[in-house]
Amino acid sequence: MSETNNIKKTVIIGSGPAGYTAAIYASRANLDPIVYTGPEPGGQLTITTDVENYPGYPDGVQGPEMMEHFKNQAVRFGTEVKFEMISKVDFTGPVHKIWTESGEEIEAHTVIIATGASAKWLGLESEQRLMNQGVSACAVCDGFFFRGQEVAIVGAGDTAAEEATYLAKLCTKVHMLVRRDEMRASKIMQERVLKTENIQMYWNTETEEVLGDDGVTGVRIKNNKTGESSEIAVTGFFVAIGHKPNTDIFKGWIDMEDSGYLITIPGTAKTNIQGVFASGDAQDHVYRQAVTAAGTGCMAALDAERYLAEKGII
Ligand code: NDP
Repeated sequence: MSETNNIKKTVIIGSGPAGYTAAIYASRANLDPIVYTGPEPGGQLTITTDVENYPGYPDGVQGPEMMEHFKNQAVRFGTEVKFEMISKVDFTGPVHKIWTESGEEIEAHTVIIATGASAKWLGLESEQRLMNQGVSACAVCDGFFFRGQEVAIVGAGDTAAEEATYLAKLCTKVHMLVRRDEMRASKIMQERVLKTENIQMYWNTETEEVLGDDGVTGVRIKNNKTGESSEIAVTGFFVAIGHKPNTDIFKGWIDMEDSGYLITIPGTAKTNIQGVFASGDAQDHVYRQAVTAAGTGCMAALDAERYLAEKGII
């Protein structure tokens, strides 16, 4: 059957590895997908520099360049890319409705959500200024660049604990800055951190400023119990205070965890709404890698294709 009333077969919201991988699969399956890029075309990888852990790039690749490759591959098979933001959805169904920020209404039989997540930041001017010049929100991505050096990490949840132990394997010393006198991380992760010899804990400690002009040279910290300030010399400053999935517009439609991560049926990209699929970091707070996001983007496109076939739409 062919498309009727200009109802799109597949609309993809988001343009990171999940969104573009979904687009590559959907366009090769003749689903004529449209990708709405959102406010950060290319997603989180466009704010990183070297990517060395994505398979297929033995010499590494710049994040923005890799996302350009993803986009070009999707466009090659007929994906339409719109540099617009989706601000509202209506999944009453069976045809789904979405609206762009400029007010255009689009109807689609299937919607693939790939809106990703954003790292939370402390909000310091120095943190923004030294972003990618020693400041990072991803130890797995950037830790390697600081091997043999001293770094600091802020945070006390499971992510911070995991990243601190990861960094401790690469770096000579990890200074872990915790704002309270205890960690939020699970007991086992806390024990792992506390047992690691080259992790030095700083309790009741807040970051006043990341130091450096063209790169990080240190961090000025303050003990919030004593009011005392001091400086630590480090070349890397990692922020691991959580991520926020970009899922606000789906509240009330798609089942989500309290933290906002979308819930999918295990082993699939299916959400609680028929014909709406979720992929990438918007539904994954555990792995959060480009390669895992791409994998779930592929799953979402295959699930969408099967759904359209079952409904007799393709
Ligand atoms: P969490 O929200 O659990 O923890 C955030 C941490 O950052 C808290 O310790 C918080 O401190 C601290 N923090 C927040 N804002 C600031 C700030 N402005 N200055 C200093 N510190 C700050 O986020 P995570 O990313 O760690 O974890 C998210 C979810 O993912 C959790 O459910 C976690 O269990 C899960 N996860 C599981 C993993 C696993 O099982 N292997 C690995 C990683 C994550 P405070 O405690 O004082 O509020």
